[in-house]
Amino acid sequence: MRALICHAAKDLRIETTELPAMGPDQVRVKVAFGGICGSDLHYYQHGGFGTVRIKQPMALGHEISGVVDGLGANVKHLAVGQRIAISPSRPCGSCRFCQLGQQNHCLNMRFFGSAMPFPHIQGAFAEQLIIEGYQAHPIGAHLSLSEAALAEPLSVGLHAIQRAGGVLGKNVFVTGCGPIGSLLIGALRRAGAARIVAADIADLPLQCAKEMGADETINLKTQPALLDKYKIDKGQFEAVFEASGSEPALRAGLDVIMPRGILVSVGMGGDMSIPMTQLVAKEVDLRGTFRFHPEFANAVQFLNSGLINGKPVITGVLPMDKAIDAFELACDKSKSLKVQIDFEAA
Ligand code: ZN
Repeated sequence: MRALICHAAKDLRIETTELPAMGPDQVRVKVAFGGICGSDLHYYQHGGFGTVRIKQPMALGHEISGVVDGLGANVKHLAVGQRIAISPSRPCGSCRFCQLGQQNHCLNMRFFGSAMPFPHIQGAFAEQLIIEGYQAHPIGAHLSLSEAALAEPLSVGLHAIQRAGGVLGKNVFVTGCGPIGSLLIGALRRAGAARIVAADIADLPLQCAKEMGADETINLKTQPALLDKYKIDKGQFEAVFEASGSEPALRAGLDVIMPRGILVSVGMGGDMSIPMTQLVAKEVDLRGTFRFHPEFANAVQFLNSGLINGKPVITGVLPMDKAIDAFELACDKSKSLKVQIDFEAA
């Protein structure tokens, strides 16, 4: 079978690899769609992010859907031919944090396509995959396998809302309306946010944010004055989600957040300086958020039941043979939100 292997920055190859043997608790999957994530792009463009570097060839990818192709002897809850969304999260279940129910902090996490540990954890951009039975989440008949591959980035948004401690009835500001920010907006709507204002520096993601349920969109590059009305009286938003990873966006969020507001930083944009005086004087809660675990099942449920429609986020689908083109397209933020690779297309 073929897989998409990253050797170093700008060195991505379609290579023939061996599928590992399937264990009794495992499932063999024909991969259908794989979404290119920001972290995949960082590996492709720069060979990593922050202190994380690719030190050995690694298959990329962790936003995937597929069709069950074979079952281990102990797997009773699935059937061959079943269409599934696949959670890339593989916590150990026994470490200190798994026992606390904080599986996203598992000390032995084997998250698909991650160069954080060494040896690296191989990713899921391949024609076939062996997964654990618990990673498979069946999808509804009406949901396309392409949409099912959005369950992963949607899970990131759902976990970010959990970190905020709920948004029911709150006025919410979202900066950065790429796939994560836009799916987050869809989830905020469902979570009962009263009013959602979305900001970005490009029009394409703002259009998507609108389709996902934002009440107002602001282009911070061309319409910065639209933010002024939210800065008055110490700020107007009870919660801010910063999903761009950029320092100016974080600072804009601090300008418009109310005293004692909650600012959740969703983006992994690297280290930045924070205006501490403003943060302290406004008594802002700055909270991080990292991946997800139980939220994946909620994400699949929301997509299955049509409570969140992720279609506006998908801007391109290319066959596996054109995977490099797909990565180049995904790098172009003026044209692309979520670009997916179709592993079944010739
Ligand atoms: Zn663990």
